[in-house]
Order: sequence, then structure tokens, then C-alpha cells
Amino acid sequence: MIKKKILTTVKDRKTLFLDRDGVINIRLLNDYVCSPNEFVFCPNAREALRMLAPLFDYIFVVTNQQGVGLSRMSEHDLEEVHQYMMQEIGKAGGRIDQIYSCTDLQNKPDNCRKPGTKMAEQALNDFPDIKFSHAIMVGDTESDMLFGRTMGMCCVYIGSEPIETTTDYRFDSLYDFALYLST
Ligand SMILES: [Mg+2]
Repeated sequence: MIKKKILTTVKDRKTLFLDRDGVINIRLLNDYVCSPNEFVFCPNAREALRMLAPLFDYIFVVTNQQGVGLSRMSEHDLEEVHQYMMQEIGKAGGRIDQIYSCTDLQNKPDNCRKPGTKMAEQALNDFPDIKFSHAIMVGDTESDMLFGRTMGMCCVYIGSEPIETTTDYRFDSLYDFALYLST
């Protein structure tokens, strides 16, 4: 029954927004992924992205990367990390259509970080045919779920810790989410 529900839901959900750290790659505790060799894919994440590719018109990454604002890494370092990520996802048969990174500091007034919705607005600006009511947000934190909720997206939570924001679905990993949609 639940399966039927999510499949019906996803049929009309043409845009997928993905958080990066903790969803695609293993999140470093209290640290930032500053170079490609620190970027470790979550188990089966590449396979998950291959499975998700034909199900969505658009797949975007929306990621807070304050490490740049804190001078822990440069814009160029972040670019290199993302080039590596895209290359590996491509090799596995998946795709990301656009990456939106917010490098602002948390305390910067009017910053673009999630749970604020500036990155979603930027995506709409770049791809005017996307509809947030037909989009899914997948993330592993409260701020991801708030971001999705505010924009009226279906919210899929990856993780086991309780969070306050109401989510629509919960899975242990991106792979479990992809598996559920594909089988
Ligand atoms: Mg995360």
C-alpha cells in the first residue's frame, strides 16, 4: 500500500533535489570535504543515481558548503570535488543536471543556505519549467526537510534520528529510496 502510494507520487514528481553530504557522499563529522580524495560515496549511491536517472526530468544537488566561506577550502577546491563527483556518477550511468552550492557563512545576513530557499529559486530561474509541487527533496537533516516543505515538495528523509519537520517518507539510504522506486 505504501509502495503504491510512493510510486503514484513519483509518477508526477519530475524533479529531484538531492542534498549532498550524508546522501550522496559520507558526511565528515564537524569537517568539510575539501578535495576529491576526501569525497567517499555512500554505499551504492552511484548505483542509486543510475536507477533514479530515468525516473526524473531533472536531478539537482543543493548543498550548503560553508567551508568555502570559512576559508577551509577555495571555490576551486569545491569545483574539483564536484568535478570528481560528476565524473564518477557519469561513469556509473547516472547524472546530475545542476549543482547548487551555497558557500555563504551561516551568520551572513540574507545568505543562500538551506533551510532558506534561494537555491530552489535559482533552480527555477535556470529551469523555468520545474514545478515544486512536482518535486521531491531528499536529505539527511532538518534543514533539508524544511527547505523542501517550504517549497511544497515531497520530503524524503534519509536517516534514523528523529526530526521535528514532518516528512513524507524515510529511508536508510539513497539506494533504499532508489530501490523502492525501481522495483
Ligand atoms: Mg546532508
